Amino acid sequence: MQCREVSRSAVYRLDEEAYILSVERRGLWLVAVAYVRSQTEKEVCYQVVLKLRPGTRYFVGRCECPDYKYRGGPCKHIVKAKVALREYLKMAKQTR
Ligand SMILES: [Zn+2]
Repeated sequence: MQCREVSRSAVYRLDEEAYILSVERRGLWLVAVAYVRSQTEKEVCYQVVLKLRPGTRYFVGRCECPDYKYRGGPCKHIVKAKVALREYLKMAKQTR
């Protein structure tokens, strides 16, 4: 996905590096769809899906980048998406 397109529908952005597209409650989980800019291809953003249990530190993340596919483990995009989501939730709490 091109970052340019992502940024149009983002509800939150962190330093033009990470974008939050949606956050919704699904049962016990909070599910967030984010896009994080690639380090190697500057116009490309990878989709990161984060699921977390509010009130706990438990979360699972999935990223579409080659690094994640290859290693099957957390990549830097997931880490960045998590930071952006934390900031977004902080902001959402303040405006409520
Ligand atoms: Zn990744």
